[in-house]
Amino acid sequence: MTKIIETNSPEETEALGIKLAEQSVPGQVFTLIGDLGVGKTVFTQGFAKGLQIDEPICSPTFTIVQVYDTGRLPFYHFDVYRIGDIEEMDEIGYEDYIYGDGVSLIEWANLIEDILPESYTRVTIEKNLEKGFDYRKITIESI
Ligand code: ADP
Ligand code: MG
Repeated sequence: MTKIIETNSPEETEALGIKLAEQSVPGQVFTLIGDLGVGKTVFTQGFAKGLQIDEPICSPTFTIVQVYDTGRLPFYHFDVYRIGDIEEMDEIGYEDYIYGDGVSLIEWANLIEDILPESYTRVTIEKNLEKGFDYRKITIESI
């Protein structure tokens, strides 16, 4: 199943994150794909809000995963952009998170394609400058 949503402001992208988080279920895994500056953090902030997490979301740059325990469900926010070796994922207990009872969201998941679960929700954000600077095409696919 594939759904395409077009947004024209950060607020709309954030709202989509909120909505997907509100509908998310324990154990669900989202991947988030898109170039730098496309709106992944905007989406993720919304996602956290949708899980009723009040803390600001910071990029887990040096830790690969950041855990938020104060929302409706545990939230595991991964950013694997700087991963050197896929074995680093084992070391941080990756499988315990993604097969756990929280909701996982993995930025740059294309870098760990081989170890993604059998089914997940793939969110891809793309720009199209012909449609304006603030235009984003957001594709949501059930894998
Ligand atoms: P990333 O995390 O993918 O590198 P950010 O979320 O940090 O990107 O930044 C996205 C930037 O694009 C922000 O400055 C945001 O205000 C801007 N922006 C403009 N239009 C949109 C839109 N439709 N959706 C999301 N962000 C947008
Ligand atoms: Mg970001």
